[in-house]
Amino acid sequence: MADTQLMVWIDQDLCTGDGICEEICPDVFLGRDDGLWVVKEEASHFGETIIFDGADGAGHGPEGARGVARVPDSLIEAVVESAEECPGECIMIEPYSAEILAARGV
Ligand code: SF4
Repeated sequence: MADTQLMVWIDQDLCTGDGICEEICPDVFLGRDDGLWVVKEEASHFGETIIFDGADGAGHGPEGARGVARVPDSLIEAVVESAEECPGECIMIEPYSAEILAARGV
């Protein structure tokens, strides 16, 4: 299990769909079929993959402000760079919180 000090989510209302975030950090950002990007937790870091795309079923979690993924400490720099380069300014980074983790439901 990766150490994690930060969490990240995307405000899909502001996402321009250019995919820069996934180019910089493909372990955390993923393009959805509708052309908007979401966050994810990869099994290589957290033991199971969870995609925060609002879909039902195993391996999926809520999107938007409730779809908050843990950031492995090894990827902090890449996630911060993604947020800095994001033209929609819609990548939201927060300190790790057990309460947020519990509220997302997965
Ligand atoms: S960089 Fe920002 S605007 Fe571009 S796809 Fe990623 S979240 Fe959306």
